[in-house]
Amino acid sequence: MAQPILVVGSVALDDIRTPFGAVRESFGGSAAFFALAAQCFAPVRMVAVVGTDLDSQYLETLRQRGIDTSGVEVAPGRTFRWGGAYGFDLNTRETLFTQLNVFEGFHPKVPTAFRDSPFVFLGNIHPDLQAEVLQQVEKPRFVALDTMNLWIENARDALLAVLQSVHLLIVNDAEARQLAGEANLVRAGRRLLALGPHTVVIKKGEHGALMVREDGMFASPALPLEEVRDPTGAGDAFAGGLLGHLAASPEPLGLALRHAIACGTVMASFAVQGFGMQGLLAARPEDIEPRLRSLRLLTQFGPADSLHEMGRK
Ligand code: AMP
Repeated sequence: MAQPILVVGSVALDDIRTPFGAVRESFGGSAAFFALAAQCFAPVRMVAVVGTDLDSQYLETLRQRGIDTSGVEVAPGRTFRWGGAYGFDLNTRETLFTQLNVFEGFHPKVPTAFRDSPFVFLGNIHPDLQAEVLQQVEKPRFVALDTMNLWIENARDALLAVLQSVHLLIVNDAEARQLAGEANLVRAGRRLLALGPHTVVIKKGEHGALMVREDGMFASPALPLEEVRDPTGAGDAFAGGLLGHLAASPEPLGLALRHAIACGTVMASFAVQGFGMQGLLAARPEDIEPRLRSLRLLTQFGPADSLHEMGRK
């Protein structure tokens, strides 16, 4: 039986510009992208804040997928807004604006029924708010945390404090370098392990992901796709697939992590194929397994016979 995952993060209206088009006020946010990906594997409980301006249809879309939104507070004011623009190769992103709005006075309240959640994902929000969530949950089995340059620069001490209670840190390559003060990613990963987490996963956009642990490393490429429209939310979808698999797997965590990274890779591949949430919303549960198989074929090598066998199945 898959175990429940508690997620805290942003619910947002995003303005996004990529070389392939632009959207305004598109439903997004770290918690929303994560929840949509994770719910393909395990029950998801969401804690977040939205303003009174958010179209109720958006939260209804999450509920229709089985996501428990009873921890989403509706506060007077405007919903969090973020704007980003991508360069030609989609690997570089510029933040155009961040409007915290209802996040300004937000203090997450974890509903009593969510407090026993064995898996917790602290999505990208201020580290003080991430810490407030951890104070309200009872001995979670596994806590993962995502963050970004904004908090590494402006709230470093708070981030270092919350990292002490985290098992898995998920960051992108630039954030790993910035937080560790080290350009080499392997050495950066090792330095990040010294901050508290026993596992660090470094996302490298279209170049995949690298996991660093004391007992070794694991790397996965991203799925090569002919059509990539908008990378927004790929990182959160990756985290959703990863934690979703861990929450559903009967294997010990150490063993399940590699497969979990593959699930994260697959969910990120759906996310980038459409603007905003469209890619993830279009993905059906039965689409996951064929992509996992493609990823396995892409990375498997060895005697030609065994590859031939795999290709036939
Ligand atoms: P990703 O592309 O995985 O980094 O996630 C993009 C999502 O993160 C967008 O939907 C944004 O609304 C959200 N986001 C961007 N900046 C922040 C921030 N400072 N705090 C919370 N969420 C953010």
